[in-house]
Amino acid sequence: MIFLNRKRIALVSVHGDPAIEVGKEEAGGQNVYVRYVGEALSKQGWEVDMFTRRVSPEQPAVVQHTSHCRTIRLIAGPQEFIPRDEIFEFLPEFVQAFLDFQHQLESPYLLIHSNYWLSSWVGMELSKKLSIPQAHTYHSLGAVKYKSISTIPLIAKTRLAVEKTCLETVNRVVATSPQERDHMRSLVSAHGNIDIIPCGTRIDHFGTVTQAAARQLLGIAPEEKVVLYVGRFDPRKGIETLARAVNECQARTTEHVRLIIGGGSRPGHSDGDERDRIESIVAELGLESITQFPGRLSQEDLPTYYAAADVCVVPSHYEPFGLVTIEAMACGTPVVGSDVGGLQFTVAPEQTGLLAPPKDVAAFAAAIDRVLLNPEWRNALGIAARTRVETTFSWDGVAAQLGQLYEILLEEASEAAPQGQPAKRLAQASA
Ligand code: UDP
Repeated sequence: MIFLNRKRIALVSVHGDPAIEVGKEEAGGQNVYVRYVGEALSKQGWEVDMFTRRVSPEQPAVVQHTSHCRTIRLIAGPQEFIPRDEIFEFLPEFVQAFLDFQHQLESPYLLIHSNYWLSSWVGMELSKKLSIPQAHTYHSLGAVKYKSISTIPLIAKTRLAVEKTCLETVNRVVATSPQERDHMRSLVSAHGNIDIIPCGTRIDHFGTVTQAAARQLLGIAPEEKVVLYVGRFDPRKGIETLARAVNECQARTTEHVRLIIGGGSRPGHSDGDERDRIESIVAELGLESITQFPGRLSQEDLPTYYAAADVCVVPSHYEPFGLVTIEAMACGTPVVGSDVGGLQFTVAPEQTGLLAPPKDVAAFAAAIDRVLLNPEWRNALGIAARTRVETTFSWDGVAAQLGQLYEILLEEASEAAPQGQPAKRLAQASA
């Protein structure tokens, strides 16, 4: 379809580059979200630029994704990987680099959609300076995260303050699940405007391989019971719970169980310590012969891994959404997940998978057993899982909902602007 007069919008994702490989170091769901939301919006008639921080002089400054969607890497701070907790001081430079970039364009950005608290700060600055509306997706809430970790970083106070200001003042916050919205309300602020629009997945990419074909490709025998984890290596992902649960399952069955733990970098990277820790737990439990660590799995290989598995386990201590869950479901693989956050939204217990209390090894073991030992039920769960993703979690559907929201924000902004003047930010009402 040809769209005339495309509206130019900026997706800002300072630390989550939509054009890089995901699944290692800090790159995960946010990178995927920004990329596929951006690409889908461009196919629906928007002119989309996705802004991120350049982390190496070798990286191209611009990556074209579709004819109307590109990643733009701005220089803000040293051109090297900086952990996200240390990026805040470089944000004013990011704002300036954005303004310089916009200066060269024929038409300005009409709206900003920021991602994660760092980008919310950038978005709030730009929204004020340019008098344009802002939507924001948190991806993770400091108020939730800091409840679950023992060492609180120095940046915590700043992050919590920025997250509160963001919720109370930006034009619209996008919660990706009702559970995330409830956490914002109970832990961040009772004020501000929230819409719920879920994350999505590529339903034409995930779900194209049968289990038999996938197993043949990966050299897995049809009778093996395959338990899969996919994701970053981070203690809060709960991979330890999974290893210990599989150890319990394995001890009480005669079936041949195989555990595949996908994701993560090689030693020497920021997520290497957790990978070493998990590998030593696997060794200590005597699971080495049944466990595989294939490392980071490409988006091209992932449909095969998901399809080959009998069950995908998402044992996170917390997830605002959890893209891996819907990717596995799209491939017809049921999910056993932690009974937390967005997993309570994506997994329909007893219909598309099961939920277990986080960190509860016995409950995870029991849930995994139920799926592994009832193949017919497992297949029924898988079929229902695929249907659930098709109806609720496609990127095209998600982008259409975001597009409608942007149109509303643009209209509100133009109504609020005095005649002949650029749109001013809206006065915020309490939701
Ligand atoms: N991922 C990947 N390769 C890997 C591990 C993960 O491509 O080896 C992708 C995965 O497919 C998903 C994203 O990384 O799209 C993880 O998103 P999720 O929301 O599950 O977790 P987050 O990283 O945001 O905590």
